[in-house]
Amino acid sequence: MKYSFGIDVGGTNIKIGLFEITNFSLIEKKEVPTPRYNQAVSIFETSKKLMDELLKQHQLTYQDVHGVGFAVPCPVKNGYVVKCPNLKWETLDVISSMRSLLEPHVKVVVSNDANIAAYGENYSLEIPLQNAIFYTLGTGVGGGIIIEGKIVEGRTGAGGEIGHMPIFEGTEICGCGRTGCLEQVCGTKAILGYAKELSTVHESSIDFKELTVKKIFDAAKDNDPVGFRVLDRVAKYIALSASILSVSLDPDVIIIGGGIAKAGQILIDQILKHYRMYARFGTVDIPFVLAKTGNDAGIIGAAKYTI
Ligand SMILES: [Zn+2]
Repeated sequence: MKYSFGIDVGGTNIKIGLFEITNFSLIEKKEVPTPRYNQAVSIFETSKKLMDELLKQHQLTYQDVHGVGFAVPCPVKNGYVVKCPNLKWETLDVISSMRSLLEPHVKVVVSNDANIAAYGENYSLEIPLQNAIFYTLGTGVGGGIIIEGKIVEGRTGAGGEIGHMPIFEGTEICGCGRTGCLEQVCGTKAILGYAKELSTVHESSIDFKELTVKKIFDAAKDNDPVGFRVLDRVAKYIALSASILSVSLDPDVIIIGGGIAKAGQILIDQILKHYRMYARFGTVDIPFVLAKTGNDAGIIGAAKYTI
């Protein structure tokens, strides 16, 4: 039996999973706060400590370990990060940083967290497909593109940053420094803001105190005028962006994940309604599916990426 670790490094927490890779199953996972100081070193030392602990608990050694995969919250190109504001990394060779603490036979891989999630989701489908576009809808809108089974990092590592696709004439500045991004109409902040805006002109059963995306989309399922309009706008922009990607890449599948995708089938149905209007040629029939791996997408994808 061989094992791999999947490590999802976020600005707040580090999640690690120990996986048996022959049948691909999660043995155990842990989560610890991300160290706050000297992160170019401390994150790797913390990861090593967590790996040591998990191996010891399961009476394994590094001889049983095939690889370690990292998912990190910034663009990555060939294992290098140029700048990662969330982790205060600058010009960092992630692979060498981790390898220096490990035995030479252990394979180390890294990619952007949304790309890793895309990779994991694609390989979690009953029949893994070769070409997939993955959306992760949450506070931010992220994505990943898999072509011929491989993550598309692109020239600088910005490949798959579909949340920053310019999709409307906006004036507000996005986190990326530009305006009119997909994230600004489909991210959590945009959803809550649009619901509040609509509540001044439409009747609604939604309780606007401590408003959440879940409350809005639950109301949409009951045909609430505000809930439904908000859901419909998210679906429309996802569909529009997906149609642009489809006519460029003609993928086998489009996977919708992230917290907002918990809305479920109603979101997929509404996306499809708009998508069929925008799509061209054979791309009209591309299936949309909900992501399966949920909160563990990062560790699952990172461990799979080592194989
Ligand atoms: Zn942006």
